[in-house]
Amino acid sequence: MYNPKSVNAEEFISHEEILDTLEFAEKNKNNIEFINKILDKAKLKNGLSHREASVLLACDIPSKNEEIFELAQQIKKDFYGNRIVLFAPLYLSNYCINGCVYCPYHLKNKHIPRKKLSQEDIKNEVIALQDMGHKRLAIEAGEDPVNNPIEYILESIDTIYSIKHKNGAIRRVNVNIAATTVENYKKLHDAGIGTYILFQETYHKDSYEKLHPTGPKHDYKWHTEAMDRAMQAGIDDVGLGVLYGLESYKYEFAGLLMHAEHLEAVYGVGPHTISVPRIKKADDIDPNTFDNGIDDDIFAKIVACIRIAVPYTGMIISTRESQDCRKRVLSLGISQISGGSKTSVGGYFNPMSNSDDSAQFDVSDTRSLDDVVRWLMEMNYLPSFCTACYRNGRTGDRFMEICKQQQIHNFCQPNALMTLKEYLEDYATPTTKAVGEKLILNEVDMLSDHNIKSIVKANLQKISEGMRDFVF
Ligand code: SAM
Repeated sequence: MYNPKSVNAEEFISHEEILDTLEFAEKNKNNIEFINKILDKAKLKNGLSHREASVLLACDIPSKNEEIFELAQQIKKDFYGNRIVLFAPLYLSNYCINGCVYCPYHLKNKHIPRKKLSQEDIKNEVIALQDMGHKRLAIEAGEDPVNNPIEYILESIDTIYSIKHKNGAIRRVNVNIAATTVENYKKLHDAGIGTYILFQETYHKDSYEKLHPTGPKHDYKWHTEAMDRAMQAGIDDVGLGVLYGLESYKYEFAGLLMHAEHLEAVYGVGPHTISVPRIKKADDIDPNTFDNGIDDDIFAKIVACIRIAVPYTGMIISTRESQDCRKRVLSLGISQISGGSKTSVGGYFNPMSNSDDSAQFDVSDTRSLDDVVRWLMEMNYLPSFCTACYRNGRTGDRFMEICKQQQIHNFCQPNALMTLKEYLEDYATPTTKAVGEKLILNEVDMLSDHNIKSIVKANLQKISEGMRDFVF
């Protein structure tokens, strides 16, 4: 029985409810009157239910689809302005005991080089990342209680936060590791992590079990209830995602929104972020062997519909996607992107070695962080290296409250400007710096609060004199 308030995975993600939703969406996909009603509700910017959003996703009336894209762009502007937050993944270890059929780290892959960073290796990786200009990382590891126990992850987080090289610092570490116990989530919380990210991969239980035939990840219930355990442990920023290509995208979309509704219903706060990964070619993985691949048009529609359904949830796109694809979805709802990423273990310190052999998947956007930053600014986006919210306790429902009232601009815009200025001073190439200085001048001019404007101006001046880390 479907019940968003239940903490039982099979009740808050009900297969029957998803099937009913898909049927409902199919029936109403040409119902202009109903679609107009949904769009009117969406324009209030309080989000939509999984059923309503599924109708928009199914809709194939060209003029209504135009409206959907325009509304997504408007909501993106209203909640996130022109800011795009930057981060990089850091692969700690590719040892893994699971059998995920889409991932080259699966246990049966005997030829992929298995690597695990020592604390010394992590130091080298982090210095390389700091030298690029990164302030925010997402750590990634396979599931292996012997090689990657929680103690290893915790020690690695400590190491990452402790490294202060030149003006560099990693100020926020997000964590993407396998589902674990409440006790371990408490330890991660105490270690000062930012968001706990775990992709559901697929919400379709039967497919999930086939796609994860062996290892602890096979347990659908354990995996699907992971965010509940994380929330119970005090981690109030969690990141959801499905791996598009495994199952029908309409099924996944409904499941994803039901998961978000469940978190909101039980813990009073929805997901902090939603990622939108698509399956990529990797060592012994051919994405064409999966039947549910989606093209760029459908991908863009999914991003737009997520944006409309959960306006206050950040959306993340990685370098799995090409420059063109990333450009297209930025305006439709993406608020965070990775840049200069390596998906191999040890790939930042040693980019020329054969360390890419250990990569999790092929990266499509291979540009440097500096190129990505300049590219964003040339499109009038404001790249942000901000990590202030979580450092100032604006997490979970406190963050959501500010965000829902569209007040977040008052913090984010100044913080984005100041962290971009740090980047320009410390890491940018001369061309990028020139583009950035111009952008900052324009953006400061547009700050409407006089008090905030004068503080920002003073802080920007101090940053150019060598001071760092100002936060609102
Ligand atoms: N082992 C952890 C887990 O099970 O959640 C960490 C996650 S893994 C390092 C990060 C994510 O990469 C996975 O959740 C999966 O969605 C994605 N991934 C795996 N294989 C992929 C592929 N071939 N193409 C694109 N993404 C992939």
